[in-house]
Amino acid sequence: MAGAPETHEFDVLVIGAGGAGLRAAIEASAAGVRVGLICKSLLGKAHTVMAEGGMAAALANVDERDSWKVHFADTMRGGQYVNSWRMAELHAREAPDRVRELEAWGAVFDRTKDGKILQRNFGGHRYPRLAHVGDRTGLELIRTLQDHGVHQGIDIFMETTVVSLLKDGPRIAGAVTYTRERGLFKVFRANAVVLATGGLGRAYKITSNSWEGTGDGHTLAYDAGAELIDMEFIQFHPTGMVWPPSVRGILVTEGVRGEGGVLLDKAGKRFMFDDIPENYRNQTADNEAEGWRYTQGDRNARRPPELLTRDHVARCIVREIKAGRGSPHGGVFLDIAWIKRHLPNAEEHIKKKLPSMYHQFKTLAGIDITKEPMEVGPTTHYAMGGVRVDADTEMSTTVPGLFAAGECAAGINGANRLGGNSLSDLLVFGKRAGEYAAKYARETRAPQVRTDEVEAAIRSTLAPFDRPQDPTGPYQIQYELQEMMQDLVGIVRRQDELERALDGIGKLNARSEKVGVVGNREYNPGWHTALDLHCLLTVSEAITRAAIDRKESRGGHFREDHPGKDDAYATFNTVVWRGPDGTMQLRRQPNPPMPDELKKIVEEQAKA
Ligand SMILES: Cc1cc2nc3c(=O)[nH]c(=O)nc-3n(C[C@H](O)[C@H](O)[C@H](O)COP(=O)(O)OP(=O)(O)OC[C@H]3O[C@@H](n4cnc5c(N)ncnc54)[C@H](O)[C@@H]3O)c2cc1C
Repeated sequence: MAGAPETHEFDVLVIGAGGAGLRAAIEASAAGVRVGLICKSLLGKAHTVMAEGGMAAALANVDERDSWKVHFADTMRGGQYVNSWRMAELHAREAPDRVRELEAWGAVFDRTKDGKILQRNFGGHRYPRLAHVGDRTGLELIRTLQDHGVHQGIDIFMETTVVSLLKDGPRIAGAVTYTRERGLFKVFRANAVVLATGGLGRAYKITSNSWEGTGDGHTLAYDAGAELIDMEFIQFHPTGMVWPPSVRGILVTEGVRGEGGVLLDKAGKRFMFDDIPENYRNQTADNEAEGWRYTQGDRNARRPPELLTRDHVARCIVREIKAGRGSPHGGVFLDIAWIKRHLPNAEEHIKKKLPSMYHQFKTLAGIDITKEPMEVGPTTHYAMGGVRVDADTEMSTTVPGLFAAGECAAGINGANRLGGNSLSDLLVFGKRAGEYAAKYARETRAPQVRTDEVEAAIRSTLAPFDRPQDPTGPYQIQYELQEMMQDLVGIVRRQDELERALDGIGKLNARSEKVGVVGNREYNPGWHTALDLHCLLTVSEAITRAAIDRKESRGGHFREDHPGKDDAYATFNTVVWRGPDGTMQLRRQPNPPMPDELKKIVEEQAKA
């Protein structure tokens, strides 16, 4: 054993300093309880900082026809009706207040001519709804929350990775961590723990996610007895960079299409007009002129097909590539430069509206997007699945005292998330998680932390040093997993391939349990990668098992062998949890019926 670990005590411990974690910490701290905040990178570096396009909230600043009801209906339709309707309702109702609150705390949003928060178009949103700061909205969100949070007396632990949650009987008791720099262990005792650890895109080879997106929160919760839902639904964003290879997967914001960008095949044909789904037909433009007018704010025009939901656009792109109509490096073309046909000052306009995209392509690919088209293709972007929580409080359905918010929680998005709904989700449910975690902490006695549990967590974290040294072993397993998930559990799935993947995950799991590392505990990336494997393999198994069980196609889950939507699958969520023997269990959890008043909203909006 490596000496007694440092210990800390809090009422509420927040794990993750992205938008969800910061918002939760602010709220808990405002309730007057002691709050600790842990993150595995530096403060300000969480994945949220990369968010570009904006946050969705029915402020109705640009189009007064917008309302929470339209936002709610859009979110349910985007999620193909397997969303938690209660979460979708809370999100749509509360997002405007959360955005205005952010403004009051100092966020400098882009403005309408009359000084209101400007809102832009995004896929699946009926009206311009995304409050934004150019294409750097995540940066502004994080900056504002951090500025606000530092004055609240929150204790922050950076470059500190949680490896295990602690329990006191059925309830949560705290967490065990190690520091990246020194490899030292710390133990945190807390009445309530909020997980806000973000996504899991690093389970795939091509992803827009930062290095932190290894599914840690999903796995910590699963190991602690929480349930995960909707794991089969992975969002493949239609537009990631495809060239050069070193930048493959980096996101090209949907804001490009929101500002008028169009998708073209190698012959210059705008292929998205060829396939407009029936349930979006009456909301979608059927000619180029109307589509352009929509992007320029014509209230009577319908959205161009490039702004259909992400799952659909990604599949259309894959179809073009497979049919041999793709771009030279295996993508399709995304052209914003063409708007010079309509706007005399197009170059300045593009640089002003999409400064990061201009800079990204110029520096990484040598492309000037004001003059030439970009090459883009789908990239693993967002996990709709995550910890199953109570919609109002964000507490785990099975582990008292464990809360989850942001991308590591599930429910609001159903089978597919609409762009922009994540940033507002972080604010709405981050706040709720912080509020209810503080309430829970006040109402419960301090938990007992068991020494044997702490020791077991430390022993298993150090185990890779006790095994035969293998300098490349952890990287090789990670590489093979990412390749396999990309090829066999990607955008287009089939029973035989999914079964092969499950078998492969089992074998990689066995190898990972024996993998050794070289060196010592100080800044040792081989060791960190070996520890990440447990999380990557756990979420990969959950995704694959849930994908095998859902024998239909819906949102982010497309089965080539079951290409249609099946009504029988519209009535439940897939739940996975850890059985008493340590194996992954799965069940179909029926959705509670939607109340009549919400049903009415959905029906009215479907006709509109
Ligand atoms: C390039 C890009 C652009 C995007 N643009 C938009 C957009 O415009 N609008 C929108 O709505 N959504 C967008 N998204 C999605 C959105 O940014 C994310 O879903 C969201 O930011 C996730 O926030 P979060 O707070 O849940 O987690 P994150 O911001 O991912 O933060 C996770 C935190 O958890 C910490 N952590 C993780 N594991 C551990 C551990 N084991 N121990 C300790 N700490 C840990 C990390 O250090 C980090 O601080 C975009 C995503 C990408 C990749």
